[in-house]
Amino acid sequence: MTDRDHGAEEAAARALADGKLILLPTETVYGLGADASNAKAVAAIFEAKGRPRFNPLISHVADAAGAERIALFDDHARKLAEAFWPGPLTLVAPVRDRQAVCDLARAGLDSVAVRVPGHARAREVLDLFGGAVVAPSANRSGRPSPTTFQDAMDETGFAAAEGVDGGPCAVGVESTVVSVLGGKVSLLRPGSVTREELEAVVGPLDAGGEGHRSPGRLTLHYAPDAPVRINVTSLHKGELLLGFGPGVGDARWSLSPTGDLREAAANLFRRLREADREKPAGIAVSPIPKAGLGEAINDRLSRAAGHIG
Ligand code: AMP
Ligand code: MG
Repeated sequence: MTDRDHGAEEAAARALADGKLILLPTETVYGLGADASNAKAVAAIFEAKGRPRFNPLISHVADAAGAERIALFDDHARKLAEAFWPGPLTLVAPVRDRQAVCDLARAGLDSVAVRVPGHARAREVLDLFGGAVVAPSANRSGRPSPTTFQDAMDETGFAAAEGVDGGPCAVGVESTVVSVLGGKVSLLRPGSVTREELEAVVGPLDAGGEGHRSPGRLTLHYAPDAPVRINVTSLHKGELLLGFGPGVGDARWSLSPTGDLREAAANLFRRLREADREKPAGIAVSPIPKAGLGEAINDRLSRAAGHIG
């Protein structure tokens, strides 16, 4: 324990227990959090975000033991939890405790999505609260995810009773979502835990599972107001270019001047927001390599550009 004041975490944990919403910092993006067992509080999240009710939420817990209280883990799930938690990996597994994560939070499914976040201050809130906390990205539905406390305040701060400012998010894209159901492991949403890293732990992923998408993957996502074009090598009039790599576009707007994928992920949503404030005719983005973390960055960009599913 440091001598830092833990008042914000304590106030957030109390607000959760009172059925109120909070802004929760995580290493991926800022979340809008609620007690997962409280259907009224969970309904308030869907309301504040304008999120369709068929899109289930991720439950955040303080540790792997907390995850196994709400979900049924097989050997694959345990290995993945062991390898990547705390961290930006969400596991979708059969639900064990239907009260701890209410029906609305699961969109009525028999499975539950669960994660132990890497951000120490998020885990402190979860530890003080004791139960599972649903915390989708704190943006209004369809918009870029907030990666700073101020961006989270601007998006859904109106709905939150308390918030913890945990600084800028280190990862910057949402968690990797993997399903561990029926003995098979499949990638539902790419993230900063890469396909390659997952396969090093559990072997080849089940490609068939990727067809039966996560319900939330069907909606328009991550989009700023300006139209977005991706894989751009020549600009249209009035477009602002988000470059990648040395000498590509204005360094001020680059996702990573050195061509570093981690840096590009951390900058992605912040640059989209900043670019949008300039009210350009459009936002153009340079080609980004597809391998490793590039899979997640390209996934978010193609959805921001309106290529869905
Ligand atoms: P978000 O909260 O916006 O980061 O999105 C959570 C993601 O997890 C969405 O893509 C959901 O569809 C997915 N998800 C949550 N619960 C489940 C579940 N039980 N089965 C499949 N996907 C899920
Ligand atoms: Mg989201």
